[in-house]
Amino acid sequence: MSAQIIDGRQLSQNLRLDYGQRVKDLLSQGVQPGLAVILVGDNPASQVYVKNKVLACKEIGMTSLLLQFEADMTQAQLLQEINRLNHDSSVHGILVQLPLPKHIDPQAVIQAISAQKDVDGFHLESAGALMCGAQGFWPCTPHGCLKMLDSIGYDLSGKHAVVVGRSNIVGKPMALMLLQRNATVSICHSQTSNLKEITLQADVLVAAVGIQRLITADMVKPGAVVIDVGMNRDDQGKLCGDVDFEAVRSVASFITPVPGGVGPMTITMLLANTLDAAQTSIATPSLSA
Ligand code: NDP
Repeated sequence: MSAQIIDGRQLSQNLRLDYGQRVKDLLSQGVQPGLAVILVGDNPASQVYVKNKVLACKEIGMTSLLLQFEADMTQAQLLQEINRLNHDSSVHGILVQLPLPKHIDPQAVIQAISAQKDVDGFHLESAGALMCGAQGFWPCTPHGCLKMLDSIGYDLSGKHAVVVGRSNIVGKPMALMLLQRNATVSICHSQTSNLKEITLQADVLVAAVGIQRLITADMVKPGAVVIDVGMNRDDQGKLCGDVDFEAVRSVASFITPVPGGVGPMTITMLLANTLDAAQTSIATPSLSA
């Protein structure tokens, strides 16, 4: 068996065509959707991520405001900047690129973003909403993974989904989303003692760890759907995921590649959240005033 590829680039392209239309619809209602992206310092990887986010906004006709600050910016200055954006009605989404310099507390910064503009979905209010099945912004990476499963018409109900990784931005929200779709969910992490035993039970396996080739073919149940969130550099400096792609491909039924899998979908879901925020601002204009 050779697994079918779930092509994140293609899926993103299709979704972004729809989102371009949503921008036009919003414009016809007098709203130009806008995303503010804040970058503190000069982390090269962050610079690439931010650039890609700004380009994606442009591609669908959304306004983006890139705010770049020196690494020695104080936390108070950053909070002040966020407060200004919270009150700027032309800004519907605010994203602070992580990681931040060590002297800035990321939780304090995330909490300072208005929950109505929290398009990364990292605010405690957003996390609480996801936990309770209430309306709120979902973190972009796991949301993108779910969209990939939807794109192959996968019905999660009653399936065993195994998530490897329990971070607040990927693993935990992923598990909650799968649970919401009625999967039976197992979450594995660095202290899991019998990882292979658990992954072998997975109908859907999501790897979100950050260790190249952690998931080998002998850890995957034949016919499983494998979603690889990992973004690592191999010995040659090439981008690779957490899954031993070539070997696992011969066992799984569907698999996402790295690059070209979850990565583009993360940015696409950021666009979706910002469009939702802009749409909501029409119904509740005081939120962005
Ligand atoms: P974190 O480092 O925050 O979390 C990694 C998780 O993996 C932790 O829960 C950790 O467990 C667990 N883990 C570590 N070692 C093992 C192991 N040997 N076996 C099982 N679990 C283990 O990373 P993120 O969640 O932020 O990101 C995960 C990966 O996804 C990274 O490669 C990152 O670059 C990538 N990523 C990709 C994105 C995309 O758009 N494609 C977006 C975001 C992330 P413990 O909690 O016990 O420490």
